[in-house]
Amino acid sequence: MADFRAIHRVRCEQILLDDGWARDQVVEITTDGLIAGVGPAGEASVDLVLTGPVIPGLPNLHSHAHQRVLAGLTETRTPGKDNFWGWRDLMYRANSAITPDDLESIARCVFIEMVKQGYTVVAEFHYLHHAPGGDRYAQTDEMSQRLWIAAEDAGITLILLPVLYSYGGFDQQPLSGVQTRFYNTLEDYLLLLDKIQKATVGVGNRGYGLAAHSLRAVSPEQLVALDRVSRLDHPDVPVHIHVAEQLNEVEECIASLGSRPVEWLCQKVNIDPRWCFIHATHVTSQEVESMAQSGVVVGLCPSTEANLGDGLFPATEYLALGGKFGIGSDSQVCSNPARELQLLEYGQRLKHHRRVLMMGADERHNGNALVQRAVAGGSQACGRSVTGLTSGAPADLIELDPESPRLSRRSADEALDSWIFSATDSNVRTVIAMGREVVTEGQHAGEAIAIEQFLNTLKHLTDRSFE
Ligand SMILES: [Zn+2]
Repeated sequence: MADFRAIHRVRCEQILLDDGWARDQVVEITTDGLIAGVGPAGEASVDLVLTGPVIPGLPNLHSHAHQRVLAGLTETRTPGKDNFWGWRDLMYRANSAITPDDLESIARCVFIEMVKQGYTVVAEFHYLHHAPGGDRYAQTDEMSQRLWIAAEDAGITLILLPVLYSYGGFDQQPLSGVQTRFYNTLEDYLLLLDKIQKATVGVGNRGYGLAAHSLRAVSPEQLVALDRVSRLDHPDVPVHIHVAEQLNEVEECIASLGSRPVEWLCQKVNIDPRWCFIHATHVTSQEVESMAQSGVVVGLCPSTEANLGDGLFPATEYLALGGKFGIGSDSQVCSNPARELQLLEYGQRLKHHRRVLMMGADERHNGNALVQRAVAGGSQACGRSVTGLTSGAPADLIELDPESPRLSRRSADEALDSWIFSATDSNVRTVIAMGREVVTEGQHAGEAIAIEQFLNTLKHLTDRSFE
């Protein structure tokens, strides 16, 4: 069991508050890991002094921990299948043998990678529910329990999103092969959800939400029912779904349901700020407007979307309409929030042939604007009602390393810009998550053993999956 130092008072020489940077402040933290208040530093003693720029921890709103096994192993040609669907076949092969011990080991390692680089909360879009072949574990939430353990060891807050996955396409084909590990009826799903909800009671660094894998993996009736259950029985938690990631998914949706995916959701389901649309890559101007008006969060995963050749979300247009977004690590090709924000901005620059796009006309620094929006949108998608470094919010703080050659001799805003647009490695010196110091001097106490376990897991999984 991880044993992180509890922090009750931390002095920050430069801290990013909701209304901008403030100097020499003390953040008071409750025993529950929430911010009790932020005010000018006085004579009282503190547990920790942070001299580098302090910003809120970043929420990772979309993760599939188990896909970490495959990161970097799919960069070869597969004749006729060098696209998302070819990658998905490889991902399924790698998934096919993962045991509960494996999942715990993989998740521990990737969650530590995340927290070391500035993510303090992760929403795990979890569909690897059952044993290889589809048999149920004795405890139907066995895999979920392993994710709780891994997150606790990493010190990251876990928002567990059990995923309803019932069909193999819009024609509602039964699941086959590796996909049988994902299968639940809506009734089975709600029993699992109940177990997961119970596991969060009274535990500050745990949360939950609902999720449907995609419009191709659930029936319209199931999705409408899931929406109804969420509003009646779980009104304060988020609801996530993959949507419009692939062009042929959009075409199949039109052929099957008569509408584009986002259009269908906005018409048939009560889309509101509880919802998070993952990817939403292929959308029309009308769909962009509908999403912005509804208050939904779009979950952007720039490194994965680039890696899989998905396409570019019209982020600049969406932002101009006040649309909310957050970032996710998705397939785990990248565990660094700064890299995701950089790639998000660069995609828009390459598309529009202009610079400094993901910010409003009255904002001055691209890094500041990207972080503030990703924290607000990501927190909303994680079901957090209070965000940023303010009273009542989770005490999630990261300190950028002021001694890094990439960040030194810069103002706080310039250091933040440099963290996203110039730095080549983590450059995060301290991480406090829910009031506990989980990263010190860039190091995580559990990392060495987690890597050793992960390498053993990787060895026997790749032996089995790719031989
Ligand atoms: Zn995903």
